[in-house]
Amino acid sequence: MKEILFNAVENEKENLFELIQRLVQIKSYSGEEKEIVEFIVSKMKEYGFDEAYHDSFGNAIGKIGNGPIKILYDAHIDTVKVTETENWEHPPFAGVIENGKLYGRGAVDEKPAMAGYLIAGKILKKLYGNDFPFTLYVVGSAYEEDADGYPLYHIIKNEGIKPDFVLLGEPTDLKIYRGQRGRMELKITTTGKSAHGAHNQKGINAIYKMMPIVADIEKLDKKLKPKPTLGKGSITVSNIMSKAPSMCSVSDFCQIHIDRRMTVGEDKKSVIKELKEIIRKHKSDAKISIPSVEGKCWTGLDFSTLAYYPTWFFDERHPYVEAAMKTSKSVIGKAKCGTWSFSTNGVATAGQFGIPTIGFAPGKEELAHSSKEEIVLNDLLKATKFYSLFPFELIKK
Ligand SMILES: [Zn+2]
Repeated sequence: MKEILFNAVENEKENLFELIQRLVQIKSYSGEEKEIVEFIVSKMKEYGFDEAYHDSFGNAIGKIGNGPIKILYDAHIDTVKVTETENWEHPPFAGVIENGKLYGRGAVDEKPAMAGYLIAGKILKKLYGNDFPFTLYVVGSAYEEDADGYPLYHIIKNEGIKPDFVLLGEPTDLKIYRGQRGRMELKITTTGKSAHGAHNQKGINAIYKMMPIVADIEKLDKKLKPKPTLGKGSITVSNIMSKAPSMCSVSDFCQIHIDRRMTVGEDKKSVIKELKEIIRKHKSDAKISIPSVEGKCWTGLDFSTLAYYPTWFFDERHPYVEAAMKTSKSVIGKAKCGTWSFSTNGVATAGQFGIPTIGFAPGKEELAHSSKEEIVLNDLLKATKFYSLFPFELIKK
């Protein structure tokens, strides 16, 4: 079976490379994915997917088969913007191919996976028709760059799709990634009493109330303990603002914004507990809150979600990871595990819903969001073989 699948992928090589080139040429900034989603849905239809449509969030969704095991392949198809100060050797939306590499915005993060999924889907449908032992969803998720996790949260919560397993197409350089640190944002607010600067003793300065809290947050960062595989969490004050009736008054409002990266064993509860301890230590009445991330999808839908993205992590001996290792060995003769340094849609599928999730894709993660984005086309070919074989290895488990 392996040979049949791999030969079929080889036969689609030209289509695959043309597809990734086309995907890079279609500009698709977060919230502006209409054109690329329509292109992907049309390709799914052309390739014989049983279903192909977009949901209210603007995600492209394709379905093949009707088997009891539901696998979801996700590749977010939005990209970060190209800024004027970036220095691109090749125009970012030209899809230039040179010496076996393709260059451009999204060439790493993460359009190759979508091209691979589409061709794998086409082959599976062609070879197995309606005799699929599984259900395969192929998702081109929108708005991931600003709201990691939320597009898949939406699909699971609102669109009635409940996958048993999820594969992410974020760059892994053909390794099996099985987790990431989580992240969350927090705000701490102190309030005081304003007074004329000339009578400052009559006021309570909100900035002075915040200062010892900021100092202790800096100390807390140094105290956070490293954990195996994912390393240590971190805490950073990213912004501070205050208000006063005038520049000649005592400030009665101060607020800090915090970025918190969470490792294994750290979550919303433990993070808030640490901060509450600092506040209690200073006998302060400071308040903690979690801000929301808001956005408007290309479909017109407004969404809002808490800026909390839980840590997730699967053991190397987890059967799902093992199935991926076996597939990797079949395709490239070796299997290596790793974890992402950045955040992915896995914060929803694994972090919130506990669904076994891994990643496998070509491309180096350190090139994401940079003007150096490039993909080795032969690696995309290998990944596509992986995508076509993986469901069968999984079913054996
Ligand atoms: Zn990405």
